[in-house]
Amino acid sequence: MRFPIDEIWVEKEAEESYVTRRILRSVKSVTVLRGAEIDAESARIDMNPDPLAKGKRILKLVNYKGAFVKSCPGTKTYLCCGLKILNIGNGCPIDCRYCALQVYFNNPVMEVYVNFEEMLSQLKAFLAYAPPDHFFRFCTGEFTDSLALDDYTSYAVPLAETFLGRNNATLEFKTKTDFIEPLLNLQNPRNIILSFSVNAPGFSKSEEIRAISLRRRLISASKSASHGFKVGFHFDPIVPFDGWEEEYFKTIDAIFDSVRPDSIAWISMGVLRFVPDLRDVVTSRFGPIRYFYDSFAPGLDGKLRLSRNRRTAIYRRLAQRIRSYSADVLIYLCMESNSIWQEALGLDMRNNNQLAKLLDDSAKLSI
Ligand code: SF4
Repeated sequence: MRFPIDEIWVEKEAEESYVTRRILRSVKSVTVLRGAEIDAESARIDMNPDPLAKGKRILKLVNYKGAFVKSCPGTKTYLCCGLKILNIGNGCPIDCRYCALQVYFNNPVMEVYVNFEEMLSQLKAFLAYAPPDHFFRFCTGEFTDSLALDDYTSYAVPLAETFLGRNNATLEFKTKTDFIEPLLNLQNPRNIILSFSVNAPGFSKSEEIRAISLRRRLISASKSASHGFKVGFHFDPIVPFDGWEEEYFKTIDAIFDSVRPDSIAWISMGVLRFVPDLRDVVTSRFGPIRYFYDSFAPGLDGKLRLSRNRRTAIYRRLAQRIRSYSADVLIYLCMESNSIWQEALGLDMRNNNQLAKLLDDSAKLSI
């Protein structure tokens, strides 16, 4: 299955790429724009009543000139896990109403970086010249969903193959799809982690527009685990709507019905936080959404957050439920302070290095 595309925009420098040719060969009834046509359409798209929705059906093929390997931007004021980002493109065909990307990019159109050989060679050089005592956790799903466009790009398998057999790195695909089939042919994928973003069932259904259903994501998690992959789950954003606790428990229960605890690399949790502009963009696109008008206040990083007491209580309740299934599965918090780690999880997480080591150790267990 693939997400439908109405238009493909081909940048001049991207014309010669074999990825461009492969994508163009694979589509039918799609308008292809080049050169000045792209400039004209770019100008027009802003006049659309919802440029972001329109952009989710346009794929722009781009020769990326920046660094493909980056450190996760994180934040100086909260604990950050030291993830490395492999930048495969930006934008996403799914349309989660809470998606932070809605305010990050000026351009609503999805971009795929088609100079894939350069991406691979930068990645291989990074891994080859990395200090031997360092361990790296890579992820491709920072500015896009890791697998949502893979049926167009076919990047997941060759990227994963670059990691197979390495002892110093893991690659995590983070997705709200079930597009895992090509990866299931990999032999001994011990350092590839297939992670699924999850949420409360009803919330997922209403807020994650065009995402693959939670049930299908969990079926994929189960399939991945039985093929030898470690799997991850990311509860982000957690939203404390009326009755949230029981609803999130349903998802935790379903996770442990689907996979054995020793197949789980980690479960992360992050309560909804957002830059103030996001609420305006979301309201203009979807009308006022109740959970964006909870009692948020600016956190140390300028993002709006719920009070530390509420966040702590939420993490503690969900962690207790997870612990009722497994005493060992690694639970981590996304961008929280040490005091919340201590109160919610009973862990003294004094600095980023300590958090990175916690995740590295869990990742190394599978290698
Ligand atoms: S899947 Fe992720 S990147 Fe895509 S719209 Fe949802 S939150 Fe945004």
